[in-house]
Amino acid sequence: MNTFSIAIHGGAGTLVKGMMTPELETQYKEALKNALDKGYAILKNGGTSTEAVEIAVVELENSHLFNAGKGAVFTADETHEMDASIMEGKSLNAGAVSLITGIKNPISLAKDVMENSEHVFLAGNGAMQFAKKMNYSLEDETYFYDKLRHQQWIEIKDTDSFQLDHSVKKDSKFGTVGAVACDKEGNIAAATSTGGMTNKRYGRVGDSPMIGAGNYANNKTCAISCTGSGEFFIRGVVAYDVSCLMEHKAMSLKDASEEVINKRILEIKGDGGLIAVDAKGNIAMPFNTEGMYRASKSSNGEEEVSIYKN
Ligand code: ASP
Repeated sequence: MNTFSIAIHGGAGTLVKGMMTPELETQYKEALKNALDKGYAILKNGGTSTEAVEIAVVELENSHLFNAGKGAVFTADETHEMDASIMEGKSLNAGAVSLITGIKNPISLAKDVMENSEHVFLAGNGAMQFAKKMNYSLEDETYFYDKLRHQQWIEIKDTDSFQLDHSVKKDSKFGTVGAVACDKEGNIAAATSTGGMTNKRYGRVGDSPMIGAGNYANNKTCAISCTGSGEFFIRGVVAYDVSCLMEHKAMSLKDASEEVINKRILEIKGDGGLIAVDAKGNIAMPFNTEGMYRASKSSNGEEEVSIYKN
């Protein structure tokens, strides 16, 4: 039997100094552990990597702590526009949605695009029409309201700036969530979901729903979910770049992901991190920020739930 494993993230970066309390740190770790355990249980019971990454991301979307689903940040119009994507490494099937509103679990809609449409990427009104066809019910704005996110928006709403979760770039925290998994059959999958950036406008879309940039899976190489400054991750085609280094340069999962996060993306001033697995169940979780909310568990007995650098 193949070693099976799962890794998840709740965004790279750290909370602004003074905001992280021991109680809050415990809450973050509990939320990560809960999502990790849910995903791992699926793999342990013989479920697929696709099922495992979806369930783990759903759990993170349902927590107000992360910038995805329930905790999504506010746009310039005081609304929420969410993006998500999912990909399977065996078939290279993929599904993605962007600029959607009112959907409790954007990752499930992305999975429906993959499984129940002829398409890969649906956006805005069209994605909402598809959700209606698939019988999704809509949550009202109060479901997505979070006091901290609203305060962050109020601080910059009359400016042209748009921000990740926190106002000072150097202390920025990216709250996107993601999961990657390798199942007992050796099939891998990746899922990513985000609310994007506070005060975003003009239909801004980051890397998270873009196959190859924020999310990618290929059994030949790796499954990747990214978090960080989306504009840079799009330009660096980060997730696919890790895969390319493994496929064309025969680099290991660890070396390829380190090369991209701690060298290539830094060269264009991108900050963030990623989680990765390969079809042998190996895991890598590099980041170039102060911390990254992350957790991983493998059938070989290894388990980690961390925020800051070890
Ligand atoms: N990558 C996401 C975006 O740019 C942000 C994040 O990772 O939190 O939309």
